[in-house]
Amino acid sequence: MRSKFRGSLLAAALGDALGRVRGRSTDPLEYTDDTAETLVLALHLAENCHVVAERLAIDLAEGWRREPWRGYGPGPPKIFRMILRGEGPLELDKKLYPGGSYGNGCAMRISPLGLFYNDVSDELPRHVREACRPTHNHPLGFEGALVQAAAVSYAVSRRPGELDPKDMLGYLVSLDVSDVYRGKLKEAERLLEYGANLMEAEEKLGVGVEAFSSVPTAVYAFVSNMDLEKTVLEAARLHGDSDTIASMAGAIAGANMGEESVPMDWIRALMASDRILEAADGLYRALYVCKRDFQGWKINRSINA
Ligand SMILES: [Mg+2]
Repeated sequence: MRSKFRGSLLAAALGDALGRVRGRSTDPLEYTDDTAETLVLALHLAENCHVVAERLAIDLAEGWRREPWRGYGPGPPKIFRMILRGEGPLELDKKLYPGGSYGNGCAMRISPLGLFYNDVSDELPRHVREACRPTHNHPLGFEGALVQAAAVSYAVSRRPGELDPKDMLGYLVSLDVSDVYRGKLKEAERLLEYGANLMEAEEKLGVGVEAFSSVPTAVYAFVSNMDLEKTVLEAARLHGDSDTIASMAGAIAGANMGEESVPMDWIRALMASDRILEAADGLYRALYVCKRDFQGWKINRSINA
C-alpha cells in the first residue's frame, strides 16, 4: 500500500511535468500547479485526518504565494488573492464564474483523497465536496473531482494485474453524477470495446480545461493502456490540457501499479521528488494515525491490499 501511495503521487507529478513539455524527454522534469495543489491536499489530510475546507483554502492560497511561478491558470490566483486578503475563504469562485467553476482544478488535486478513503466509497462524495469548496463549486466541477477520486480509490484498492478496466468503467458509470459525465463514461466503455487508443478517443472525450472534458480522458488513458509508462506518455502527448490530464491519468495508474512501475530515469529527472515521496509517506502513515476517525476494519482491510 505504501508503494501505491508513492506510485500515485510520483506518477501524478511525472504526468504533470511530462505533459507540460508534451511528452518530450527532458531533464530535469518540473511539475506545475497540478502537483503543487496535490501536495497541499496530501499534507493537509495527513495533518488534519480529514478535509477542513476553511483551512484547506488557506493552505492552497499559501501554496500559491510560496510558488506563484508553478504555471497556475488565470482563475485560481484571483481566488487565492481574495483568500489571503481575508475574504471567504470558501466559494469565492462564485464571484468569478456564475454558479461556480467547473474547471478541472479540483479534480487535478483530488488524488490524495482517493488514496486516503480507499474502500470507503460511500463517504467519498462528502469529502470530495469539502475539498472542492475553496475553488470549485459548480456541480460539474465537483463531479469531475468525484469521478477522479473514485477512479483513484478503485485503482488503489485492487491488486495490479487484477483490475478489470471494463469493471472499473462500469463502477464509475454507476456513480451519482450528471448525464454529462455518465454520457462521457459510457462513450469510454464503447471506445474500449472497439479497442480505440487515446488519440482516437480524445475527440469524443475532450482535452479541455473543463472537468468534464479532461477527467474522462484521464480515466481512458489508464483503462486503454493498463501500463503506467504508456498511460502517462500518451496523455502527456495530447493536445489541450495535457499536463492536467496526464497528471490525473498518472495518479490513477500509480495508485494501482505502485512505485515499482514508475520508470527510474523519470524519477531521477523529476525535481523535488523527495518532497513528493515525503508527502506520500506522510499520507500513508496518516492511515494509521487517523484510524480512530474511520471504521477500523475498512482501513485494516485496505492496508492489507
Ligand atoms: Mg498545470
